[in-house]
Amino acid sequence: MRKNLRCWAEVNLDALRANLAWIRHEAGARARVITVVKADAYGHGLRQIAALLMQSGTDMFGVANLEEARAIRSVGEGWPILMLGSALPHEAAALVRDGVRATVSSVDEAVRLSEEAKRQGRTARLHVKIDTGMGRLGVAVDAALGLIRRARELSNVKLEGICTHYAAAEDDAPFTRAQERLFAGVVNAARTEGIEFDWIHASNSGGFLFQKSGVCTAIRPGLVVYGIAPPSARRTRLKLAARLQPALAWKCRVSLVKAVPKGASLSYGRTFVAPGPMRIGVVTAGYGDGYMRAASHRAWVLIRGRRCRLLGRVTMDQMLADLSGLPEVESGEEVVLLGRQGEEEISAGRLAEWSGTVPWEVLTNITCRVPRLYTGSQAA
Ligand SMILES: *Cc1c(COP(=O)(O)O)cnc(C)c1O
Repeated sequence: MRKNLRCWAEVNLDALRANLAWIRHEAGARARVITVVKADAYGHGLRQIAALLMQSGTDMFGVANLEEARAIRSVGEGWPILMLGSALPHEAAALVRDGVRATVSSVDEAVRLSEEAKRQGRTARLHVKIDTGMGRLGVAVDAALGLIRRARELSNVKLEGICTHYAAAEDDAPFTRAQERLFAGVVNAARTEGIEFDWIHASNSGGFLFQKSGVCTAIRPGLVVYGIAPPSARRTRLKLAARLQPALAWKCRVSLVKAVPKGASLSYGRTFVAPGPMRIGVVTAGYGDGYMRAASHRAWVLIRGRRCRLLGRVTMDQMLADLSGLPEVESGEEVVLLGRQGEEEISAGRLAEWSGTVPWEVLTNITCRVPRLYTGSQAA
């Protein structure tokens, strides 16, 4: 089937399963795993990945919105789902009806969900979020107990979880430790009032790799599940992260091979001029597929197991690769944009560097024009 394709992604489900097993092993037997599958499972395809994670025994799913929650439910009933963002007022009814767990940072949100749950005769399950330094969602640390006490008094509400989010776990050890201490302080203060939470969680991928927690009962990883470690200046734990297997490879093809003379300018804006006679290949991917235009003049692709420079600007559907030294390449051959070919590999971290961004964006930027093909023993 992939023979017909111009540009596609291959997702190795065995790699994903191995990553999840390793993450579980590292996190310890008692830690539960909230697998983050927002943004189409980081571009890997939400339904397929949700099905795999259900088989592999994830404990909860983390999503960005209710549509993602519904997609998971369409694959299988019964798995708890946590909406990581703050529910909009007009989403409260659907969130309660669908039984999605809410992340709550304010009394207003808690009250709104309680009233909605009362109206529907259901229970809203809440995870209270504490802002320990991310500065995004979350109640301030000194107001946290107040919110927790109020939420406990509301009817039709179950205060199921408490959480926080690290701002720089992969880079800043002291700040992350301070965040962990603040979070543990709130959890322990609640405990002295007899308030216990089923789900206590803080660790994204960076936290999971770099910050051990004494109070958490669950972790909340995304990127590492897909086999990619966050870029980091902190070396120690990265050796461990070498166990991760990137699940996604991104490929396209050489369409046209041709010779250009010295002085020929290539692509829009004429930003590259051939310093001598060259052989170039037109390849069948561009920013319309999600390949970052910012990678122009910096990125490489793999053809016949060799690195080939991209020349000139990335365009919407096509890019130009330097085939100098590869005279035998023919139209139709496979080009690797991300992943392995022979001995060479282009990692998401590397492609992100070339594009001036982070691996999260490289993955979620791959557009719906790119079909996802599944390999591995549980591929449907
Ligand atoms: C996206 C997200 C995560 C996962 O982050 P990774 O760095 O991909 O592991 C965890 N928690 C929250 C609240 C998120 O929004």
